[in-house]
Order: sequence, then structure tokens, then C-alpha cells
Amino acid sequence: MNTRDDPGARALHILETVFGYSSFRGQQAEIVDVLAQGGDALVLMPTGGGKSLCYQIPALLRDGVGVVVSPLIALMQDQVDALAELGVRAAFLNSTQTYEEASRIERRVRNGDIDLVYVAPERLMTPRCLDLLEASKIALFAIDEAHCVSQWGHDFRPEYIRLSVLHERFPTVPRIALTATADQQTRDEIIRRLQLENARQFVSSFDRPNIRYQIVEKVNGRKQLLDFIQSEHAGDAGVVYCLSRKKVEEIAEFLNESGMTALPYHAGMDIKDRTRNQARFLREEGIVMVATIAFGMGIDKPDVRFVAHLDLPKSIEGYYQETGRAGRDGTPASAWMAYGLQDVVQQRRMIDESDADETFKRVQSVKLDAMLGLCETLNCRRMRLLNYFGEDASPCGNCDTCLNPPISFDGTVEVQKLLSAVYRVDQRFGAGHVLDVLRGIDSEKVRQWRHDKLSTFGIGSDRSEAEWRAILRQAIALGLLAVDHDAYSALKLTDAARPVLRGEKPVQLRQYQKPVKQRRQPAKTAGYVESGLSAEEQTIFDRLRWWRVETARKHNVPAYVIFHDATMREIAKAKPASLSDLRGVSGVGEKKLETYGEEIIALIAELRAS
Ligand code: ADP
Ligand code: ZN
Repeated sequence: MNTRDDPGARALHILETVFGYSSFRGQQAEIVDVLAQGGDALVLMPTGGGKSLCYQIPALLRDGVGVVVSPLIALMQDQVDALAELGVRAAFLNSTQTYEEASRIERRVRNGDIDLVYVAPERLMTPRCLDLLEASKIALFAIDEAHCVSQWGHDFRPEYIRLSVLHERFPTVPRIALTATADQQTRDEIIRRLQLENARQFVSSFDRPNIRYQIVEKVNGRKQLLDFIQSEHAGDAGVVYCLSRKKVEEIAEFLNESGMTALPYHAGMDIKDRTRNQARFLREEGIVMVATIAFGMGIDKPDVRFVAHLDLPKSIEGYYQETGRAGRDGTPASAWMAYGLQDVVQQRRMIDESDADETFKRVQSVKLDAMLGLCETLNCRRMRLLNYFGEDASPCGNCDTCLNPPISFDGTVEVQKLLSAVYRVDQRFGAGHVLDVLRGIDSEKVRQWRHDKLSTFGIGSDRSEAEWRAILRQAIALGLLAVDHDAYSALKLTDAARPVLRGEKPVQLRQYQKPVKQRRQPAKTAGYVESGLSAEEQTIFDRLRWWRVETARKHNVPAYVIFHDATMREIAKAKPASLSDLRGVSGVGEKKLETYGEEIIALIAELRAS
């Protein structure tokens, strides 16, 4: 086929030969086409959706250099290394370079010796850089993490506002703005601020079908976490999110003692230690990063197999962004969370005690309620998530509520008992004491206050403490009870409690389920992901992993830059005996075939002979 004149065919040819992929995903082909024809585009795609190809391929198709604006300076080196592995001429310009290094790259840009250049926004705005671009041939501008232009978002970067200069000074150069932030307000702001009124908009589904969502009742969080990792993700790379710096340190230590390699990451750490831990997480295999939400923006490690939450996030937006860091390579991954009474109390308290104004507190409170709704739902988690972002969905079959439907029951009587118990102790006592009274526990405090004389004493002795905690948690989540943080965390009835107490409103509850200890899998099959390989294939895969570690070290790049797990799994299945056998494997482009092909074939031949 003559691919010279047909841009679509040329794009596909680059996809195959450079990147080693056989087909475009989702809207990639259309987006590439718009850019190739000189048009502008706004791309909203979830993390892992494949945004990079949307500008990398048009940059290769068009004359001149593709200029990528990105705030993530720390990741530029890896991005450039990854492109070099693919045989693409790439470089970056940022403040980490010496004057000489920068000058050398500028010269290459001017001479058209380069396909892609990554530039930090503040660098781009300097007269020196703008003059350089005036003097060079530019294929396109890609504005990555475009939501940074939004003043209301949490990643606001003032330099982004000035990026409208690009349109004014280079009106004929096509621009593409990309983000994984979904909401309409951010989208409108990007369009307005970057003058993208004429851009084609591409909004993808935000579903991440390969991620399995699981939210379990917290009983002993760290033990449950350990169980989860050992049974489902032994040897895998993952992120564990905790609320406080102290807890980050503690959990990292705990996991290390349990035989894993876990590293802490939080904003209170020395910047050097933090950067080193991040680099290790990116470069080494099977590291568990224990972190506060300070960790994660722009982490494009594709083989993060799980994201775990030991504390409740403040909002679904936050939860989705954090869990979205799992499984960017499209193969199975887990989003796991342990959640309990204390989380509800703690998050409500943080809102109550913050210095923010009332409007802000109300917004936070609505967001928290949505998050609680997700935790307590009896329906598909994914449906809840996607509905929250305004997308329709049906039960997914890949979340805990789909796989193991929770049992619901009419909990009206139980909740009434609980509410009465709170009322009878004059709404002056916290959860522990109220539950003691309910269960008829003869504690010192009970005797001191003569609460054993109350009509509610012992009316809940038929249920365990764990069961009552689950009921109490749901009553708080449903807004029937509030915790008064000014008065020793005393439980109080809300207005919504009255109709329940009067028997006018039934309450449906989720049955407490005792955590079951999961069967431990042999550590060798790192996670359930590798299943589907025969014993021989597994041996080849394991050997390839070793080879990748060595090779990555030699080239000083993260392992996934050499090959993704998915690619190696496919190689293990295909057992190629020649370069042409290897050529068809997804993720093996021409450059990698040339660099590594012979080695891999030899390695497989040797294994099969033995
Ligand atoms: P994003 O920037 O949207 O989070 P990336 O551009 O990093 O996502 O892509 C996520 C992963 O998917 C990468 O590992 C990439 O190589 C892979 N990928 C992207 N497009 C394709 C495709 N058409 N076929 C196969 N893999 C793809
Ligand atoms: Zn589901």
C-alpha cells in the first residue's frame, strides 16, 4: 500500500513500526487526524487512556518539532528516555539543565534535528525560548495537564494562564490540550483561557474497566491490607494511601517488617529522600509506595498493580484520581479500600473543624456524602462512580458488589434501638459507651452513670460489637446521627432521626460481613495478573523479567521503558523463534526489535532447549 499521501495510513504505520501497536484505541485515530490536518483539539481522557500518542504521532507526521508543555519536570528525563528507546529524537528544556546543555538542545531544535521537545511552562514563556520557537519549524504545541490552567482546581499553575501567548504568536501551529480531569467547569476554563474555542473536543468515557474496585469494612486495617497484598498482589508494585504523615511512616515500616519493600512518601519528608523514593518506585520492580496524597501527580508508571486506601478520601474526585494510577497498561489491577466507623467520624470532624467559610464547608460535606454513598452502596461500585461523573453505566461484573453481592436487611428496628440508646444517655456520650449500653456491658462507666438501669441497657445484646459498629457507621453515614466534636465526640440525634424513631421511615442496611482471610497465593505468580500462562510460559516470563531488570540497569531507565509486562507476557505466549515472529507482538516496535530482538530469541531458545 502506498502510505505516502494518506495521513491515516501513515499514522497507523508509525503506530505499528515505532510504537509496536497494531491499532488505535478509542478516539486516538481521530485526534491524530485532526492535528495532522492542522486543527486544534481538546482531549479529556482518563489516566491510562493513551493521551501521549495523541500528540506524539502527529508530531512525527508533521514537519518540525512537537513542543510539549508539561509541569512535571521530574518526569521529563524518563519521558525522553522512553522515546529514545523507541528511536524517537526527543529532549527537554527545564531548569535542571546547565546553560551549555540547554544551548545544545536549542541548536538541535533550530536545526530541525529533533521530533519532540518537552518544556516547562515557565521556561517556555521566557523571551529566549519564544525567540527560539520563532526561529524554528514547529509541528504542534501539546499542552499536557491542561487543567493546571484552572484557578479553581487543585493543581493550578499561574504560568499556564500565559500559555494563550502561543495562539497569539503562532496562530497557524495546531494545538492540543490534554487532561484527565473530567468536569465541565474545568473544561470550559481550559477553552476560555487557552483560546481553544475552535478546537474539536474529544471526551472519552472515564471508565477504567481493568480496575477492580473493592471496599471492605475496616476491622484491623493494617492486617487486612497485608492480607490483601499477600493474597492478590504478592510481588507487585502498588501504592498505599494514608491520611497522615505519621501513619505513612508506620505502615511503611509495618510492610517492610512483613517482608515487602515499602517506601514512605509525604510532604514532610526531606525533598532528597522523597525524590529518591519516587525514583526507586519508578525504576525498581515490586515496590510498594506508602504515601499521602502528595504522591502521584503525573506518575505514569504503567504497571502499578494496586492502589490501596487505608483512610477514606475526602471526595469521589480524589478517590478516582488516586485509584486511577493503577493499571495504566490496561491489564487487571485493583483499587482496594478499608473503611470503617472511625473514617466517617474523622472526615466529618475535619470539615467541622476547618477554618473555611460555610459555603466551602457545605461543598466539602456534599462531596463527603457522595463518597460515603459509594462506600455503603448495595449496587455496583463502578456504576456509582461513573454516574457521579455524569456517565450512564450498567453493573460491571468487576467490583466487589457485583462479584459478591452484599446482603441488605431491614435495619429499622436496629437503628431505632441505637437512636434510643443515644437519646437515653442524654446525647452526651461517645460511640464506645453507647455501644456498651446497647450490648449490656457491665463497664465501670456504665455503673458510674447507672446506665444499667436504663430501659435501653442490653437491648442489643444479640449482636456483636463489630455488627453494632457497622450499624452505627451507617447511621452516621446516612446522617441520622452526628458526632459532636466540641463535646467529647458525643453522639447526637439529627432532625433526620425523628421519622425513623417514630417508625415513619424504614432503613435499609448493609449486613456486616466478617473479613475472610484470603488464601495466600504462591509469591512467584506476582498477583493474579499472570494467570493464563502455562508453566513453561511462566518460566519464560520470569526469565524475561530478570533480563529486563539487567537491561534497564544498563540503560539507566525504568524497567517498563524496555517492555511492559503485557508485552513480555505476550512474548512468553508466542515463544518467538525468529525476528519476524517477534515483530507482531504488541509493544515491539522496529527500534526495540533491532536493539533487543536477537537477545530475546536466544534467551527463549536456550530456555526451551533445557
Ligand atoms: P495517559 O497519558 O492518557 O495516562 P499514556 O499515554 O501513558 O496514558 O498511555 C497509557 C498506556 O497505554 C501506555 O503504556 C501506552 O503505551 C499504552 N497505549 C496507548 N495507546 C495504545 C494503543 N493504541 N495500543 C496499545 N497500547 C497503547
Ligand atoms: Zn460492579
